[in-house]
Parts: sequence; structure tokens; C-alpha cells
Amino acid sequence: MTEPKRLPRLEFADDVRLETLAVRQGLPATPWGENSEALFLTSSFVHPDAATAAARFAQEEEAFVYSRFTNPTTMMMERRLAALEGTEACIATSSGMAAIMLLVMGLLKAGDHVICSRSVFGSTIKLLQGEFGKFGVQTTFVSQTDPEEWRAALRPETKLLFAETPSNPLTEVCDIRALADIAHGAGALLAVDNCFCSPALQQPARLGADLIIHSGTKYLDGQGRVIAGAVCGPAALIDGPFMSVMRSAGMCLSPFNAWVVLKGLETLSIRMEAQGARALALAEWLEAQPQIARVYYPGLKSHPQHALAMAQQSGNGGSVVSFVTRGDTPEAARANAFAVIDATKICSITSNLGDTKTTITHPSSTSHGRLTEAQRLAAGITQGMIRVAVGLEHVDDLKADIARGLALI
Ligand SMILES: *Cc1c(COP(=O)(O)O)cnc(C)c1O
Repeated sequence: MTEPKRLPRLEFADDVRLETLAVRQGLPATPWGENSEALFLTSSFVHPDAATAAARFAQEEEAFVYSRFTNPTTMMMERRLAALEGTEACIATSSGMAAIMLLVMGLLKAGDHVICSRSVFGSTIKLLQGEFGKFGVQTTFVSQTDPEEWRAALRPETKLLFAETPSNPLTEVCDIRALADIAHGAGALLAVDNCFCSPALQQPARLGADLIIHSGTKYLDGQGRVIAGAVCGPAALIDGPFMSVMRSAGMCLSPFNAWVVLKGLETLSIRMEAQGARALALAEWLEAQPQIARVYYPGLKSHPQHALAMAQQSGNGGSVVSFVTRGDTPEAARANAFAVIDATKICSITSNLGDTKTTITHPSSTSHGRLTEAQRLAAGITQGMIRVAVGLEHVDDLKADIARGLALI
């Protein structure tokens, strides 16, 4: 069989940097010569003749066919994100959770086993344990920070290790290189949810991870506009089993949302730098406040995995800071946390993160509200805990916004 005819690719020198690829990688412009990438809102594409249509459906010729699985705007976003992650390929999905669903459907079958950190996003735990448990995929949950627990959980049928770093809301960091070695030693793959750092700070593939998961809803869009997701990895997996699931299951990203994320990627690295710098300044200030018992932020020297985080995350702690208000009882600590949140005038009271607008939330009554108090305490999430996802406001205004509530407690 002859090589299939491929769509054109934009070629860049091997040493072109992430900031350049974030602005430039995609597809060639149309004959109109637009400088800003075009938004192709079309469900299907027209073929010049029946024979060409047949060749395209037989995948002898790569072309745009139907936007459930091929669209130029979506492809530009996929190519750009793959370039940033340093993977061969990427497939966009309708949400971050759809990306994890695609990962499992593409890789696993009944009887297979997954090892996953106990500290991953709550819906990820529910999807793996609840939904995929029903289909005979078993998951063992282990420590975020102790690789030996992952090794001890290996079984002959283990096919996938799933990690997320740093975690939410405690910002615990796992050692990607160590987990990749454990996975590969057992013939399994390592997938990393890179939502909190984004490729601007952390490129898990360079540390040995096989597949990278994204919620594009967070820093990739970066302005809180759309729900989006992606899986990045080797072309053999993305174009093979994952594309096959996408064609039949259809958890595709809308081209409009892909365009929003595509343009968001252009400012990703400057946003991550600026938001990380603000988060560090805020975390240092919070640590000095007498009403605060503890601050969780990987950029602080007091963070238990500070050295690992700095090595793995380009010296940047990210933009999520959690802290615990003092209180003699859990009820008093909760009342103090609520007082701080309610006194803010700038921060948005919402559980989303990755926005240019700083968000503030009380994890134990919102994102982790469905857990029992015992489960929350086992996870280290106390009633006094507040999570702030730092945006782009002036950091002194954010300090003043939080100081107002601290003065009340
Ligand atoms: C938000 C989030 C997800 C889920 O993404 P959606 O786009 O909301 O479906 C997955 N992982 C992490 C770490 C997240 O923060």
C-alpha cells in the first residue's frame, strides 16, 4: 500500500522554543492569508468527487471529513498543544473528564487494573472507581507522594498508572520520573493530568510519562470561557485507539471552543509566569499572618516537596495556594474560613481555577463536600481550609482583599 496522502504540516527547527510554538504551531493559512487562525464552524467537508471521498473514508488520504473527528480549527489546537507538551500527537475532547474517559476507553478492557493517586480530582476518582468499575476495570488508590506504594500495588493485569501533580487543594507533588520508571518496569503506561502546571511549567513527557491529560477549561483557555480537554501522546496511540474511540463515541471538542483554547495557548507562558509570581508573593504573605495556621504552596520552602516541585515545574510553584484559618474547633475554623471568603470584594467565590480572575473556595463544603468528614480528614482537607487560584490582579489588591476578612477573626 502506498503512504496515505497527508495534510501539510508547519515545520520548525528542533530548537525553536515553547513560546514560539505556542503562537505559531498549527496549520498553514488558507488561500486568503489570514494572520489570526480561522474558526471553521462547519459540521462536514465537501469532497471534489466520489473517488476522492472514498479515498478519504478509507483513510488513504488525510483530509477533513466530519467535525466529530477532523476539523481544521481543532487540529490547529491539537498540533499546538502537542508541540508544547513535546508529544507526537494530541486529540481534543469536549472536557477534561471526557479526556480521561477517552484514555480509559482507548487503553483498557474488562479485567485490566489501574493504579491512581488518592489525591486526584474528585470526578476522576468517581469515573475510575464508579463508572469504569461497572465495566470491570479495577482501580487501586495510593499515596500521592510515596512511589513505593505504587510499586506495591502493581499486579500482572496493571496497564495504567494515573497521576496528577500538583494535587488539588493540598498542592502535593508526585515524582513523575519515579512513577514512569515503575510503570515501564511493569509493562504499563503512565498518564499524567497536567492541568495545574500546564506545559508552560511542566512537560511530563520529558520526564517519561506516556500520556498527558488536560482540562483545557483551566489554564489552557486561561480566561474561564469554555469547557475543553485533550489527551497528548504518541501518534500510534492517538491516531490509533483514541481516534477510533473518538469516531465511534464522539466526545469531540466544538471547533469554537477549540479556537478559544488555541488563542489562549498564545499567552499561556506569560500568564503562568505572572500568575505564579503573584501566587508566591501571596503565599509568603499568608505564611506571615497570625490568623493562618498553615499555607500549602509548592513554591514555599516550607512545602514538603519544594525541591522536587522546583525541579519538575521550571522553578515555579504554580498559581494555586491553599491555607488554613485558625480555630479552636472545626466549627470555629469553618466560621473563620467563611468570614474570610465572605469579606472578599475582588476574588470570585467559585470552584473553577486557571482564570485571570482570582477565585476563592472552601473545599470541604464545595469540591469535596460529597465526602464524609472522616474521608476529608484522611485527605488532609480541614474545615479551616481555603483555596485560592491566583489570577492576574495586582497582588497587593489580593492581599488587601484577604486581609479584610482576617481582621475579623
Ligand atoms: C477541572 C479538572 C478536571 C476536569 O476537567 P473539566 O474540563 O472540568 O471536565 C480534571 N483534572 C483536573 C486536575 C482538573 O482541575
